[in-house]
Amino acid sequence: MSFDTLGLSAELLRAISEQGYSKPTPIQSKAIPVILQGKDVLAGAQTGTGKTAGFTLPLLHHLSSRKAKDGKRPVRALVLTPTRELAAQVGESVETYGRHLPLKSAIIFGGVKINPQIQKLRQGVDILIATPGRLLDHAQQKTVDLSQVEILVLDEADRMLDMGFIHDIKKVLALLPNNSVRQNLLFSATFSNEIKQLANRLLSSPELIEVARRNTTAEKIKQVVYPVDKSRKRELLSHMIGSKNWRQVLVFTRTKHGANRLAKQLEMDGLSTAAIHGNKSQGARSKALAGFKAGRIRVLVATDIAARGLDIDQLPHVVNFELPNVPEDYVHRIGRTGRAGHEGEAMSLVCVDEHKLLRDIERLLKRPIPRLTLEGYEPDPSIKAEPIQNGRNGKGRSQPGNRRQTRHKGQAPSQKRRSSKAKQKQEKAHPAWGNR
Ligand code: AMP
Repeated sequence: MSFDTLGLSAELLRAISEQGYSKPTPIQSKAIPVILQGKDVLAGAQTGTGKTAGFTLPLLHHLSSRKAKDGKRPVRALVLTPTRELAAQVGESVETYGRHLPLKSAIIFGGVKINPQIQKLRQGVDILIATPGRLLDHAQQKTVDLSQVEILVLDEADRMLDMGFIHDIKKVLALLPNNSVRQNLLFSATFSNEIKQLANRLLSSPELIEVARRNTTAEKIKQVVYPVDKSRKRELLSHMIGSKNWRQVLVFTRTKHGANRLAKQLEMDGLSTAAIHGNKSQGARSKALAGFKAGRIRVLVATDIAARGLDIDQLPHVVNFELPNVPEDYVHRIGRTGRAGHEGEAMSLVCVDEHKLLRDIERLLKRPIPRLTLEGYEPDPSIKAEPIQNGRNGKGRSQPGNRRQTRHKGQAPSQKRRSSKAKQKQEKAHPAWGNR
């Protein structure tokens, strides 16, 4: 199948061909025609499948073919994303695919000054890409009007719920026009009961579109487990990067503190390294990502949520320095490599404490991951397993459900934080990011 048969406008086809895409990915060939028909969609697709273009292209098509009422430029499409990085990436896609169309877009997220966003909104915006918290800030200050939204996209809805955004999402929905005059698209990698409830509430007679999950599509990813003692992981990692001359490695740790510590140690080993996690400012995260993409930074150490949605093409090596607590996160992590049909390698350094986590992951994958013990790094059999520490004080949250609770019980719910000075602090260290 080619893009020409999907019903997209000439301007969009031109932008697609300038991107060098020759044919639509499975999610694109399924979703684009359905969205063009104006139907609501419930789509199961993960990052790396081409889902962003899957909703961005038909969205741009609709907006450019329907003029806004009375010549004004109200927000007509709203894309909600869980993280700033994902918002930035979706915004980039909107710009790229919409470059031959007279549409304007804006990206809105916390952790940066609000005034430039207000200026941009004042000038008129057709497509708004936003994280829920900052969007509600704007709504409260009356600097955004969502009453004309024709298309709503919830991107990575499962992750938004994991991060405790359900109340914010409900508040945003209350600001939109009635369901019946709006087209709603919900993208999620998983379909929990909560996602189904949200879908029931939001979507009318949706078309269900699913593409193969990463753990079935990612056949091209070579996965290996290296059994090694916890105290020797860093040494083994440096050895592998150096001896195999890897130039671009994404390394996952469980906690922010662990990411910082490892990044420092790898720097001392002579490897240019940056850490990316929820405590880093937006500027620092963007800089680290840009340096990594450009090849100036050889090793990027990330926590799960910070890495979510990172669009780094053809990443050859992903290393699990520590296994994730949630088995699904393993699938997301290794999905960073072997993208769009390229070969990739995912390595996990596993110590005795992590054997249970490994079993859970293998149960999810429905297959064992091959073990490779490296000479000189064999684990010491006399070392006994210890409980896993998930934070500096060992108080880290291991389950998505816990993350949710912390946000609601703990620091200010959205209303409170909006009016106080704590808001800025909160933007910096979003509670939902916890120790990650
Ligand atoms: P996404 O799943 O939206 O994060 O997209 C993953 C990557 O696939 C991005 O780098 C896109 O630029 C790329 N991509 C999207 N559509 C296509 C396509 N039809 N052909 C090749 N690459 C694509």
